[in-house]
Amino acid sequence: MNQIEKCIYCGTSFDPTKGEGDHILPVQLGEFRNDKRFRKICSLCNNRIGRSEQQFLACGPESFFRDLVKPKIPQKRKRGCSKVKAAMGAPCPEPTIDHGDHRELVKLSKDNPLNLLAVDQIVIHDEQDKEFFIELFPGMGPDGLKKRVERLGTVKIKKTWIHCDDKHWTEFKKLTETWAKSEIQNLPDNNVGITQVNVRTKIVVTDHYFRSLAKIAFHYYLVHSSRGFRGDEKCFGPIRDFIMNGGNDKDFFNKSGPKFIMPFGKILSGGVITPNQWCHIMAADETDKEAVVYIQLFVGRGCVPTHITSNCQT
Ligand SMILES: [Zn+2]
Ligand SMILES: [Zn+2]
Repeated sequence: MNQIEKCIYCGTSFDPTKGEGDHILPVQLGEFRNDKRFRKICSLCNNRIGRSEQQFLACGPESFFRDLVKPKIPQKRKRGCSKVKAAMGAPCPEPTIDHGDHRELVKLSKDNPLNLLAVDQIVIHDEQDKEFFIELFPGMGPDGLKKRVERLGTVKIKKTWIHCDDKHWTEFKKLTETWAKSEIQNLPDNNVGITQVNVRTKIVVTDHYFRSLAKIAFHYYLVHSSRGFRGDEKCFGPIRDFIMNGGNDKDFFNKSGPKFIMPFGKILSGGVITPNQWCHIMAADETDKEAVVYIQLFVGRGCVPTHITSNCQT
């Protein structure tokens, strides 16, 4: 049977039996049983959304939870992995620890992002006290280091710190000696063993992040709406435009709305019901005037999702 569908974003006719359609939640967040696909989008528009999704997966708080939870995903779809340094104009999260006068870049272990890995690095403060990190690699040589400094742009260096393990100290010390008049201060050694430190992670996203979220909400709503909307109706023009072209996310994201009833929360007998495994929670509500979608990703054991009403009253 030859079926023809019209893309709700660009109006192009296409054969919806070709291609997978849109996974409403990106597969990188996990594979789901009974996952409904949204099929009224052409592959071109779907790819365009996919580019925004790279930022959502690699730069948002979700990137941390992807490493922590490790949702099962199909082997061939392992994109947006946290090896990238930036996605669609936003840097990936940069965890650092505080040393008072400067911060030190650290990496989160892939096996368990609650474990930190030290990074051999030079920390640079420029004259405006802006902070830069340059990772040091064995064998990079003075020229390699120079290139990396140059890549930062016109930085007037005021002060630098080196963090490095003992194994590479001699090599990296030599490297800094070639650096104009560097003065070396030995910092107290880190204790060997397990130490607990406070890590701050700066999350930077652009509207691509919010466009991906808007897409999840919009497509989720469309496949569950009981009003028979396709999604290309005029009333959805602004959200379609935001998803495809960006704009002001404040127009679409709001914390107030209907309270959704879910089986989590306090119960009358005194206990609390929480998810017993990692999950994502989505819910939609529609009235004559508006459609509201609730999304909370990576809700863990023992966590009570916010903004819901419990129906576990008995
Ligand atoms: Zn299209
Ligand atoms: Zn090292």
